[in-house]
Amino acid sequence: MKLVLASHNPGKLQELAAILEPAVAGLELLSYDGPEPVEDGTSYLENALIKARAAFAHTGIAAIADDSGIAVDILGGSPGIFTAIWAGGRDNVANRRLLLSQLKDIHDEHRGAAFVCTIAMVSEAGERSFTGIWPGRIAHEERGEFGHGYDPVFIPDGFEITAAEMPPEVKNSMSHRAMALQQLIATLASGL
Ligand code: IMP
Repeated sequence: MKLVLASHNPGKLQELAAILEPAVAGLELLSYDGPEPVEDGTSYLENALIKARAAFAHTGIAAIADDSGIAVDILGGSPGIFTAIWAGGRDNVANRRLLLSQLKDIHDEHRGAAFVCTIAMVSEAGERSFTGIWPGRIAHEERGEFGHGYDPVFIPDGFEITAAEMPPEVKNSMSHRAMALQQLIATLASGL
């Protein structure tokens, strides 16, 4: 079975292929080089669907796309779909600094947050979606060298270290993305 990943990010293709291909017999994950649609949805699901629909329409091959971000309780669920541009541009260093400064005087019990990942799959058979939520809290300062994005400021529930202090294989076994991927794998493996 072929699946096209609606992303122009080669790192994401490699990361997802490494998880999906061994888990689903006969699966081949393909890159997508067609036009990228405007992500003007108002939720992770809408944005993931916009990307997956565009890739399916362009290639005729079943397509998947993911959209993810972080929801901070005391910010009413923001940054949410604005996670990547929270400080104005696509700059994760500035994004993390802004978030830490916004929560500067907030105590641990009110620093709850969650990483969220939604994967949409669009094919002739219709549209499906899978969502993983990884709860935790925002640290008081950046810690750790692994990972990317907001990992250095996110402490998952049940841990006292940030996601950037976790070896990647540990994070990748429990993250929001891992949870959404497990649901996708179960669906693909059952032939749905
Ligand atoms: P995208 O959907 O992959 O473009 O990610 C949207 C935003 O969420 C970016 O700012 C990412 O850095 C952030 N993000 C998504 N997943 C993670 C994660 O696993 N760790 C850290 N940041 C993440």
